[in-house]
Order: sequence, then structure tokens, then C-alpha cells
Amino acid sequence: MTSETRHFAPVSLAHAAFACRCPRCGEGRLFTGLLNVRPTCPACGLDLSAQDAGDGPAVFVILFLGLIVVGLGR
Ligand SMILES: [Zn+2]
Repeated sequence: MTSETRHFAPVSLAHAAFACRCPRCGEGRLFTGLLNVRPTCPACGLDLSAQDAGDGPAVFVILFLGLIVVGLGR
């Protein structure tokens, strides 16, 4: 049975998002580092290569750190 024909139990979207886990199986980690998305889920093999966020994660980190720096500078 391939990963495309296997059935997975429903995963809570909030759990998967906050734990940075695969949205299909809820087990595999989505990131290899702080900002790099894995090409496939290591647990179920879901292809994540189409989920390229571009500069989105870097912009989020820059805005968050900028908020802290500006907030501490006042
Ligand atoms: Zn998975």
C-alpha cells in the first residue's frame, strides 16, 4: 500500500499548525531548520515541495524581531 492509497486519521489543524507537523498524518516534522520546509513528510511521504512559502517565513521572523527591537528601543 503506497502513501497515496493509505488512509490517515483526521488531524486537528490547530495541533498540526502549532506543533509544525504534517497536515495529513500529524507525525512528520514540516521543517528541517527554522525556515526550511522539507520536500516530503518523513512519516507518510506527503509531497511538500509544492508548499514553497517563498520569503514568507523570513518576513514573519523579521517583522516579529523588528517589533521586539522597536519595542525595546522606546
Ligand atoms: Zn505526514
